[in-house]
Amino acid sequence: MSEEQKFSKERIFNFIAYFLITASILFAVFLLANNTMIVNFFNDSENKSFDYRQFLLAKHKHLKPSKDIVIIAIDDGSYEYILDKYGEWPISRDVYSKIIDRVEADNPKAIIFDLMFIKSFKTDINADNMLAKTMAKYDNVYTAINFDNQSADVRTPVVLPDRLAANLDNRSKRVDIDKDYGFSNCRAIIPQILNSKTKVGMININRSEDGIIRKVPVFAYYNGEYYPHLTLMAGLDLMNNDTVKDFVIDKQSNLIAGKNKIPLTDSGEVVLNWYGQSMRTYKNIPFHKLIKSIEGDKTIDAYDFKDKIVFVGTTASSLFDTKSVPIDKIYPGVEIHATYMNNLMDNSFIKKSSFSTNAIIILLLVLTVSFIVFKSTSAVFATTSTVLLASAYYLASYYVMSWFNLWIEVVVPLFVTLVTFAISYLAKYLLKSRDFEHQYKLATTDGLTELYNHRYFQDTLKKQLDTAMRYDQEFSLIIIDIDFFKKFNDTYGHQVGDAVLRTVAQILKKNTRATDYVCRYGGEEMSIILPQTSKEEAMVNAQRICDAVAKTPLKVNNNTEVNITISLGVSTFPEDGNAPQKLIECADKALYYAKEHGRNQVGRNE
Ligand code: GH3
Ligand code: MG
Ligand code: MG
Repeated sequence: MSEEQKFSKERIFNFIAYFLITASILFAVFLLANNTMIVNFFNDSENKSFDYRQFLLAKHKHLKPSKDIVIIAIDDGSYEYILDKYGEWPISRDVYSKIIDRVEADNPKAIIFDLMFIKSFKTDINADNMLAKTMAKYDNVYTAINFDNQSADVRTPVVLPDRLAANLDNRSKRVDIDKDYGFSNCRAIIPQILNSKTKVGMININRSEDGIIRKVPVFAYYNGEYYPHLTLMAGLDLMNNDTVKDFVIDKQSNLIAGKNKIPLTDSGEVVLNWYGQSMRTYKNIPFHKLIKSIEGDKTIDAYDFKDKIVFVGTTASSLFDTKSVPIDKIYPGVEIHATYMNNLMDNSFIKKSSFSTNAIIILLLVLTVSFIVFKSTSAVFATTSTVLLASAYYLASYYVMSWFNLWIEVVVPLFVTLVTFAISYLAKYLLKSRDFEHQYKLATTDGLTELYNHRYFQDTLKKQLDTAMRYDQEFSLIIIDIDFFKKFNDTYGHQVGDAVLRTVAQILKKNTRATDYVCRYGGEEMSIILPQTSKEEAMVNAQRICDAVAKTPLKVNNNTEVNITISLGVSTFPEDGNAPQKLIECADKALYYAKEHGRNQVGRNE
């Protein structure tokens, strides 16, 4: 096998080795992916990147909040008004009856209470009866129920009327509603409402690990039934002109409900697409001002609810049931529901990219980055290109969210890009250094004997001389010539001669120190540089080599073994000269002496 063949074989081996390294790193990543802490860290970072994109988008959004949505807000002013008038929260519920009648007089599309009318010892039976009666007069009033994720003994579970449940069939395997929203309990809403025809929807909300609300469930799973979200229920009624009771989740994880097709996450939520800063998106009508205007206060401008979707809920900071949301410091729950409604109206829920989309993106990034690193000749170019690629990807994720309401992941892909960059660089560096080592070996080694070659010998001799001069040391040189080698070749052939050269080289190596340089001087002549070695020591060493060669039998054909001998000459710095040429001449002279005096010996300088 030639050197070059050997080399390309080694190269293939290297590639396989790096492939295996990469594969094992990916496997390690896969193992990490099953570690909850790491997964949470990545999820959390991905969520934060979503917030950041939403924050940027809120400033340049083509999505505009609907003018049809208004909020009757129990704001800080209203809360003070209520405390003044009633001494405590909650207020007597006849107030809500007045509000419903007043709003309904304008023909609104719907009134949606993000408030629960819970049974409690404080409730005034007459006021509650009146509220239930008022609600029953209209078919576009909705109110809320909350499913608590608590054990049954905390509160007495209520029996929910069948009419509140929805049918959910043909569920896509990817969407797992039961698991994540398996609620065990439910707040007891006053029976007058629960048992009337009033529409009641659940208002459970799910927080991310960091406590922020980005997603809202579409159903609560309770006692084997699915209960639709309040806003989903109201929104679908408005858009389909009829109550939607049957739902299907298709293979692409969309919730099909009447005319609506709503993208869901794997755990059955919608990801909300925000319209901007809270309290500035929708018209807020303070609750207490509306009450005062109903009671005849002429100083308040008349409100018009015609064709409006009216949410009633708390925005007073002390009454917040729900406090945080991505793009702003604080969003009260009622704004979250209004945003949900608005997303339903303009079909702008955020869709999360699927697993296969993420996998393809990651694969493309990995291929591009490793291509850049392996093909580029400059580190600056490779680094700049990778940084540009990563930035371009991040920017693209922003525009994709803006144009297609699509949330493509950035954290894991960018992390993988970074890791790929590092691994590719490492692999490239290792390949290159192996390459260099190989070239260096080729340039300094004699192919036949694998000793250092003549050029290396000359360089080393010069360096050794400089070192010895600088540190005031001595060193020796031995030159070796095989005796009657021409004749040997003639008798047994060149092939056998070559094998003998290799054997002699091995003997020389075996009988010298690791710090000595054994070289092929040329033809059948070899040389040894012995650093920090005196003439006496070198002579002893030379004699040992001479004896070793003489007593080693060499196989010249299948049944013949012969012995060969060598002649050696030694010179030493500084006593024999202070230039390379001088030392070589001197060792040659000694070698000549050995040849003249019967060979198979170490010659003397005379
Ligand atoms: P002496 O004892 O005087 O050294 O006799 P010699 O025959 O060895 O004479 P000399 O050193 O001049 O011989 C050199 C011979 O070494 C010539 C050539 O046949 C043989 N030789 C040189 N290089 C190689 C080689 O690479 N392979 C083989 N097989 N023979 C070589
Ligand atoms: Mg010779
Ligand atoms: Mg010879």
